[in-house]
Amino acid sequence: MENKVIYFDNNATTQVLPEVFEAMAPYFCERYGNPSSIHRFGGSVAADIENARCKVAELLGATARDKDGIATEIIFTSCGTESDNAAINSAIATLPERRKIVTSAVEHPGILSCLKNWERKGIEVVKIPVNHLGQLDMECLKREVDENTCLVTIMWANNETGTIFPIKECAAIAHSKGALFHTDAVQAAGKIDIDVVDTDVDFLSISGHKLHAPKGVGVLYVKRQIRFMPTILGGHQERLRRGGTENVASIIALGKACELAKANLAAEQLYLASLRDHLEKRVSAEIPCIRINGDLANRLPNTSSISFEYIEGESILMFLDMHNICASSGSACTTGSLEPSHVLRAMDIPYTAAHGTIRFSLSRCNTMEEIDRVADVLPPIIARLREISPYWENRDK
Ligand code: PLP
Repeated sequence: MENKVIYFDNNATTQVLPEVFEAMAPYFCERYGNPSSIHRFGGSVAADIENARCKVAELLGATARDKDGIATEIIFTSCGTESDNAAINSAIATLPERRKIVTSAVEHPGILSCLKNWERKGIEVVKIPVNHLGQLDMECLKREVDENTCLVTIMWANNETGTIFPIKECAAIAHSKGALFHTDAVQAAGKIDIDVVDTDVDFLSISGHKLHAPKGVGVLYVKRQIRFMPTILGGHQERLRRGGTENVASIIALGKACELAKANLAAEQLYLASLRDHLEKRVSAEIPCIRINGDLANRLPNTSSISFEYIEGESILMFLDMHNICASSGSACTTGSLEPSHVLRAMDIPYTAAHGTIRFSLSRCNTMEEIDRVADVLPPIIARLREISPYWENRDK
């Protein structure tokens, strides 16, 4: 057990499931035709892409089909980031008289970096704050969305804490002022129920590698009645909405991953929550001065953000790594300054806790045995780091 990797970093990326790998394998060396070709060798691949498109649509509850039975609301892209950018760019292009975008303070950089770029070009960007549980300030959202707003973009679930946002209410607020609504559902898809019809979203992003398909494929859902202006212009692929030869094998893989996610969703939710709850129970009982971050009553079943106060998350990760345990921290050490992440800062988590925050994110590939192993190794690691921490020594002063 000591030598086997324990992978608790599934919000970063997931293992490609064997069934998914098997489904995509023929598209490399056997069925390698270009779906745009006239010959049957390529054309039959195009039919397989349409089948995958339907499976993605089914996971999202996207029921619309055209006269040929094609789920045209699903556009395949290269990743979640591309989908996020494409939704924002399209909203700005199709509602040019509106110059404002409303988002949350805790979005992924796929949204925030794109919006920063638009801000430089004169678009007003408003970030709605969250409270200490990571819940969105809905009154502020209502106040900020106005007739000048072209897009409201709010993530379905947060990647660091797992907190789930009230997407149906957010979409209704956007629509009440004639704005479009996008949700980044990259962390939600395959983990909780998603229904684009019930929530009435206009755009929704997902990413293959977060739900056991490979890296390099994503999806943008665009509601049927909504005008769409593409970001990537090229050939006639994806009905002129995303140029470039399709990443066929990965699209087939994503279709299979969505099929599996839908079939196992209810059972997997229970299983993951039982693993997560056991981890949190043991950590809470065996380690003093910890806090669990996020909206505990309303979060993804696989995500646990735990702050070990008065020590550095990076040091914890290094020790875990020595035990072959993978997790991630709540810091962005881009400039070497180990600033806590923008999500923890937006939640106003005290610095002494934010610095020692570890995100454990689970998947169906994890076991209770692994949870117990991690819960066994954590207490001595935390005790040892606290022994050498000046903050721990001075904590009551
Ligand atoms: N949105 C969220 C919430 C994410 O967690 C991620 C990846 O971590 C992305 C978008 C970006 O997805 P991709 O890596 O496919 O670009």
